[in-house]
Amino acid sequence: MRLILLGPPGAGKGTQAQRLVEKYGIPQLSTGDMLRAAVAAGSPVGLKAKAVMDAGELVSDEIVNAIVAERIDQADCATGFILDGYPRTLVQADSVEKMLDERGIKLDVVIELVVDDKALVGRIANRAEETRAAGKPVRKDDDPAVFPERLREYYKKTAPLIGYYYAKGSLKQVDGMADIDAVTAQIDELLKSA
Ligand code: AMP
Repeated sequence: MRLILLGPPGAGKGTQAQRLVEKYGIPQLSTGDMLRAAVAAGSPVGLKAKAVMDAGELVSDEIVNAIVAERIDQADCATGFILDGYPRTLVQADSVEKMLDERGIKLDVVIELVVDDKALVGRIANRAEETRAAGKPVRKDDDPAVFPERLREYYKKTAPLIGYYYAKGSLKQVDGMADIDAVTAQIDELLKSA
């Protein structure tokens, strides 16, 4: 099973991806996590990505395409994977298509978590508050001052992918405003027919 989770930051892609990992035993490929690991390791990619990420902007297509291409060749991706937070631009979407074609594999479905922007701003503010209350550092890009920039990036650069995948017949939508278990149930239902 190879699928893409699409939706703005804070839509719950990561949470649903983790549930799919448990259910299907395939890995979650989160480019956000991979980039944060690169930043923490101080690798050349991390050094380039840090300021861009902190500002809530998108890291270059070249960098993310390269890290995903390398990751999908690892053994645990042989039977499938969940792309979470990737692709995020049309250039990245073309790159995914090429990567899959070159490997003779197919994408099963693109699932969009449809959410309401105002609720997202509230969700992210809560996430930041809970993290702070737990005594942990808040991600710079979850800061309520930076989050609107991430949303703008989403609408400018990522939202066009909805039309792109719709036109290909790959897009399925779920109500991302439902509670977490209900979103999972909608996704399960879709995957039965995918
Ligand atoms: P996320 O955890 O998916 O919200 O990603 C955190 C940040 O990492 C984003 O705001 C971007 O700066 C960067 N990032 C993650 N995935 C991508 C991607 N596919 N393309 C460009 N930048 C990305």
